[in-house]
Amino acid sequence: MVCRTGPFASLALLTSLAAGLATPVASLSAQAQPVPQTTAKPGWKWSIDSVRSVVNEVRAGRSLLPAGWPGGAKAAVLLSFDVDNETIAVRYGEPTVGSLAEMQYGARVGLPRILKLLDRHKLPASFFIPSVSLGLTPSMAADIKASGRHEIAVHGWIHELNTTLPDSAERALLKKAIAELTELTGKQPVGYRAPSWNFSPNTLDIVRELGFRYESSLMADDAPYEINQRGKPTGLVELPVQWILDDAPLFDPRGERYMNPRDVARVWMDEFDKAFDEGGMVVLTLHPHVSGHRSRIVALEQFIAYVKQRSGGAVWWATHADAAEYVRGQAKLGEPSKR
Ligand SMILES: [Zn+2]
Repeated sequence: MVCRTGPFASLALLTSLAAGLATPVASLSAQAQPVPQTTAKPGWKWSIDSVRSVVNEVRAGRSLLPAGWPGGAKAAVLLSFDVDNETIAVRYGEPTVGSLAEMQYGARVGLPRILKLLDRHKLPASFFIPSVSLGLTPSMAADIKASGRHEIAVHGWIHELNTTLPDSAERALLKKAIAELTELTGKQPVGYRAPSWNFSPNTLDIVRELGFRYESSLMADDAPYEINQRGKPTGLVELPVQWILDDAPLFDPRGERYMNPRDVARVWMDEFDKAFDEGGMVVLTLHPHVSGHRSRIVALEQFIAYVKQRSGGAVWWATHADAAEYVRGQAKLGEPSKR
């Protein structure tokens, strides 16, 4: 994922559109920060119809939490790795030699280290990859596919921010990403994760039209749910993410919110404890260029060891694709609809 603008920017744009304003408001990621400088009409001046229209544009529908998980497991754990690498440095058009080298670490060192760990535990995972990232280091496809356990899914073309794009560009980039990923991996991807978890007002329409079976960028639940669009069910499975379960913000040694990776692992364990008690699901979002470092992979190692010990084996480790199809079947959701 990795974000500068934050997932709420898309909602901010929606907000401005619904309010009939020409200028998009500043990012609503500022909701936890000082009041943003913006020309947008504040919410207290909106009609309730405008509020409802904005809120219902993309919203969580029915829960898809199953009564139980495969094999009698009491919880599901979905490991995901967003293989951003150099795209993070290039996407804004101002890469430096230093930033490119820092990000190349993901492909060169981080990913092999992560794959080795997953192999040791024989665990499946989903790898969301911008197609430019895979094009720069195409050997990653064979490395990820070698075990036969993992899934490769879409993460934009060059980790573009959807909210900065016109509809036509967003659509064209996503089509190109699917085609290139299919070519480089030999398999058509079925899952989508928006770069930086950043949804534009057009993203869901495009994702539906292009035939994805699940989405994993939104945060309305701990459990899987069906996405509703403009009040209607879509048949698209959402596998929700959360900043709490992401490595990037808390592992930045130059960031304001840096945490010791071992302390972060404790948070993930607490998330698992509650999921296990409730029969729920944990989706962990990590990055090879972040968690692939020696002092950080310790957090993932600790988490895996803890889950195994706490669950006594009664946990379902799954790819996102397998989890999405399982909950689709259990809920008798049917096929996703394109419109
Ligand atoms: Zn990313």
